[in-house]
Amino acid sequence: MSKSMDEFSPESLMMSLGHDPSLVQNSIKNPIFQTSTFEFSTAEEGKAFFEKVYGGGNIKEKNQSLIYTRLNHPNLITAESRLALLDGTEDAAFFESGMAAITTTLLEFAHVGDLILMSSPLYGGTDSFIKNILPRYGVEHLIFSPKMGKQEIINLVSSHPRKENLSLIYCETPANPTNSMVDIEMMAEIRDYFTKDKDVYLAVDNTYMGPIFQQPKKHGADLILYSATKYIGGHSDLIAGACSGSNSLMLRLKSLRSKLGCMASPWTSWLISRSFETLYMRMEKQASNALAVARFLDGHPKVKKVHYAGLLTEGDDYFETYQKQCTSGGAMLAFDIVGAEKEAFTFLNHLNLIKLAVSLGSTETLASHPETMSSSNIPKEDRLTVGITPAMIRMSVGIENPNDLIKDIGNALDQS
Ligand code: PLP
Repeated sequence: MSKSMDEFSPESLMMSLGHDPSLVQNSIKNPIFQTSTFEFSTAEEGKAFFEKVYGGGNIKEKNQSLIYTRLNHPNLITAESRLALLDGTEDAAFFESGMAAITTTLLEFAHVGDLILMSSPLYGGTDSFIKNILPRYGVEHLIFSPKMGKQEIINLVSSHPRKENLSLIYCETPANPTNSMVDIEMMAEIRDYFTKDKDVYLAVDNTYMGPIFQQPKKHGADLILYSATKYIGGHSDLIAGACSGSNSLMLRLKSLRSKLGCMASPWTSWLISRSFETLYMRMEKQASNALAVARFLDGHPKVKKVHYAGLLTEGDDYFETYQKQCTSGGAMLAFDIVGAEKEAFTFLNHLNLIKLAVSLGSTETLASHPETMSSSNIPKEDRLTVGITPAMIRMSVGIENPNDLIKDIGNALDQS
């Protein structure tokens, strides 16, 4: 970033960061670079570009060291510089899906013989990758509950035969779909406790709060992960993922990304960069709508319990963690309807304005049934332990008029 731009807030820089109009005929917006490769002016330049890209380098160097679209391209660099600014990290990497970001990170930071400590619940795809795919590569996992304290977690890891080989602590907070929260600062202390001869890294899936409402780096996280399909993309029209962190960790991740070939394409990266421009505005409106919906649901005779960070008060589980690390309740809520699957399905089938679909973080409000949909590949006993029951409904609140959302929900509840 040039010195004169340093004084402005990230919110304002989302419109211009990572794009230099003078490189593209003074175009205010970055064009889509629909090309697979870039011409070097000399062989020496080609050599120098490879050295810079494989050796790291700052954003300006990267912008001027374009090689081949699987390694880097201008739209990718724009998106990555914007996320790194929001997350307060040195660099970021964008991928063609959230799962591509997560699986590349897990493969890079956990190897044969290693142990991953994971929070529960995790998004179904992540849970399934850790439990069913990583064992094929010699990686074991250990589950901790967000309700456990620091010493309890230390004791849990210390009693595992692979305690010396703990390589990654993987958390999702708030968790999909229960909204349970992990204290990131406490997990960073646990990471430090187990970092002896071997490096241990702390990864946090920040999809649920997005880079606006929670900044895991400030609390000690090393790797911050996103399904950028959600708030960052924000319009239910793309699939993407991201990870941010230090230059050295991003260099490792990008090296594996270029071998797996799962970087975000020019078109996806362009859409992402554009969506960053409205991220603040969308998330603030979505969160204020979510609070209105949560207040309506709370105490409704057809609703047993609402799980929403913005309703937490002193004495509630996670209240202190919420106060410490989140700046808003966000726009994701879940609630347990009175009854079970039959009542939940009747409610979902009677929504009109709100769409019955998985995914989250978009401009339109979406509702779904985690038990039989996005969390269905988590083993049933694990689902019940964390409270993903047949009565649970998940809602991602959009930017509609909140009175209309409440009307639609009220009508559907009357039918359930
Ligand atoms: N992490 C969380 C918390 C999610 O909710 C999801 C998807 O719903 C993912 C990761 C995976 O992201 P994607 O669907 O973009 O691959």
